[in-house]
Amino acid sequence: VALESATPIVIVGHVDHGKSTLIGRLLYDTDNLEEGKVAQIIESSKKRGLTIEWSFLLDSLQIERDQGVTVDSTRIPFRLGNRQFVIVDAPGHRQFLRNMITGAADADAAVLVVDVNEGAREQTRRHAMLLRLIGIRHIIVLLNKVDLLDFDEQKVRAVEQSVTSLLAQLELTPSLFIPASARDGDNIASRSERSPWYKGPVLTEALAAVPDGNIRATLPFRLPVQDVYRFEDKRYVVGRIERGTVRVGDELTIGSQGSTARVASIERWNAPERDNASAGESVALVLEPDVIPARGDFLFAPAQAPEKSARIRANLFWLRQEPLRTGESFRLRLATAEHQVTVASIDSVLRLDDLTEQQADEVGPEGFAEITLVAGEAIQFDPFCPGTSDGRGVLVDRNQRIVGGAPLLGPATLAAGTHAIHP
Ligand code: GDP
Repeated sequence: VALESATPIVIVGHVDHGKSTLIGRLLYDTDNLEEGKVAQIIESSKKRGLTIEWSFLLDSLQIERDQGVTVDSTRIPFRLGNRQFVIVDAPGHRQFLRNMITGAADADAAVLVVDVNEGAREQTRRHAMLLRLIGIRHIIVLLNKVDLLDFDEQKVRAVEQSVTSLLAQLELTPSLFIPASARDGDNIASRSERSPWYKGPVLTEALAAVPDGNIRATLPFRLPVQDVYRFEDKRYVVGRIERGTVRVGDELTIGSQGSTARVASIERWNAPERDNASAGESVALVLEPDVIPARGDFLFAPAQAPEKSARIRANLFWLRQEPLRTGESFRLRLATAEHQVTVASIDSVLRLDDLTEQQADEVGPEGFAEITLVAGEAIQFDPFCPGTSDGRGVLVDRNQRIVGGAPLLGPATLAAGTHAIHP
């Protein structure tokens, strides 16, 4: 399967609200399971005295993972008609959160599963907040276990209402609410007769309608430099284009030097030479004159330079068990660059139960905050914007452990006191 062309989706929600069941059901109802797998699920369900337990399917996928090399992210492919999707999953809650903030679980769309008996719970809030932080705009809310409410429209609408207002507080507008039973398959791949009052699309229809949008190609050109190679008298500046489009003949600024150079040719591996390339493509550029950028450098369109500042405001999702305190230093990984930074201040911390921003002098595990980072030198960066990943930094401690995700908001001198998540 060509996973590159697949639409990635994440499935989030509070523990036990039905994520695994949903994935199993989705794969089964869309004929994306091998025969043997189903038999295996039925077998293990019987052993536990159950008719069928879809979440066992994921357990069996988990076993495959454990036998493989160390993979900490699972990509479960499934096809709907002629469109390929991939569910980005990870073994365990913490690994999943880590993958979300590092971009390993970058997705175009998310399905937020909410058990209608319980409504939004703590992890529902946390996951929704993460979706906002990493800029996943297309959100489908699956109101699950509607069978337990006997498909009562009034009761389901009440839950929908409360989830709507929770998401509204986070400035998130879901594209859709689908009343469903993942266990029984209602409104997953086929329309349920038990919810005649629901006229909207079923989950598979909603997924098929997820826009393919790549907004990155329309932004000003950015190429974080991965490496520079010399080969047969030519020097190749190599990297993945994060934003925009480049054409042969374009003038580009070399971030570290402030000088400009012209693109003499654009080369790719195993592909014919072309005179342009866009976001998402890995390229090797030959520049004239022959300037020498280094890994971590930045090439960009001169007319639209990125920000440059040694003080940066950032959002933070904190992962480490031990709380974050002002004054701590980390490496900030940003695209291909790494900078030494110190947390100059914790400007506000989000209280999850009422979603208000508070003053606090530390950020606890899985906490959200707004912070100010200071570096020894001015850092060139683009503020994070949804649909991109290069403005999203990762904080790493001295043992190379990822301790937090930090979508950058802007230079710290600007717009102090505003608390917008997205610039
Ligand atoms: P996860 O922790 O979010 O992955 O949740 P699971 O998929 O493991 O489901 C938790 C429990 O809820 C399991 O016992 C499921 O059988 C049950 N469950 C999942 N979906 C439904 C549903 O639509 N209706 C009912 N009644 N139970 C469900």
